[in-house]
Amino acid sequence: MAFKDINKKRAYQKKIAREWARKHPEKIKASREKFKKTNPEKRNAWRKVETIKIPYGQLCQRCVIREAVDRHHKDYSKPMEFEFLCKICHAQADKERKQLEQTPTNTTGGEIK
Ligand SMILES: [Zn+2]
Repeated sequence: MAFKDINKKRAYQKKIAREWARKHPEKIKASREKFKKTNPEKRNAWRKVETIKIPYGQLCQRCVIREAVDRHHKDYSKPMEFEFLCKICHAQADKERKQLEQTPTNTTGGEIK
């Protein structure tokens, strides 16, 4: 299906994913179990910070404009090192970390696409 509006496309993909998940609860469960086994560091980091409340009125530490709603780990092996971020900066930060993880050989500092 072709979409001109990216938001409509995302909403459609979300709907499809939700319907699929409803029809395959056993696959969702298996995927969760697999995640637990393959990402112990990530899980540990999340568990450590989920009890830490974001201070009231805390601004995002990146844009310093929007209110912080998330905690972001730069490195899951350091669970207590995190930033308070807004949704938008958190999405960007996750993207950056993913790119770094995927290109360990890129040491030139060139633009990653
Ligand atoms: Zn922000």
